Amino acid sequence: MAQLRQIVNYCNQLLRIQDFRDYCPNGLQVEGKKEVKKIISGVTACQDLIEQAVDHGADAILVHHGYFWKGEDASIVGPKKNRIAALLKNNISLLAYHLPLDAHPDYGNNVALARQLGFSVKGCVEEGATRGLLWYGELEEQSADQLVESLTEKLQRIPLHLASASQQPIRSIGWCTGGAQGYIEQAAELGLDAYLSGEVSEQTFHLARELDIHYFAAGHHATESYGVQALGAHLAGYFELEHQFIDVFNPI
Ligand SMILES: [Zn+2]
Repeated sequence: MAQLRQIVNYCNQLLRIQDFRDYCPNGLQVEGKKEVKKIISGVTACQDLIEQAVDHGADAILVHHGYFWKGEDASIVGPKKNRIAALLKNNISLLAYHLPLDAHPDYGNNVALARQLGFSVKGCVEEGATRGLLWYGELEEQSADQLVESLTEKLQRIPLHLASASQQPIRSIGWCTGGAQGYIEQAAELGLDAYLSGEVSEQTFHLARELDIHYFAAGHHATESYGVQALGAHLAGYFELEHQFIDVFNPI
């Protein structure tokens, strides 16, 4: 058991939230009970996750996608009202970490995904807009089809592969979890054989060919399922809490 305040302060420091300009507040977004024994982690603070957390007797929920995004209507109405009402009624705190959780070198989504996929991490971009977000590394040389097979097995989801022009075998790969297909040009500038992110849209098909880099859309939810699990497990050990990850299905 630990004080909510202690857990929040610890996470805020560990993830260096003050170093990020983000699209949402990082840290404690909704305040619940002062003491925490059980924490539930999940990718997105949707109604289903909250209801399952209530059933599990959670004191706090840890997510990657919380609330109060820049550009969204600030009014607490509709689904947002229902979610926040359920948290407040059950006295459950919501801790949300977005970019700081993508970037963390031990518990971040990107390093945790690399562990899940067996990529050996060489580094990440250290400057500019993609600082800490665009990672790169190596894998055993394989064809794009072989990589599709291994991604399908390791993420339990069939990725969409967009082939490069020369269809080179893959030895080096860049990745950024979530909705980061826009970094494909930077990945190509790094001279990588392939780039992987979560989502895909129309223009990326042409870009992959013209930049001569394979692109894999492996799922926004699927690629961002591992950071909260790693952080939740770490918090459980550090503060002697109960922790459970709940995977709410999302095909995107
Ligand atoms: Zn995301």
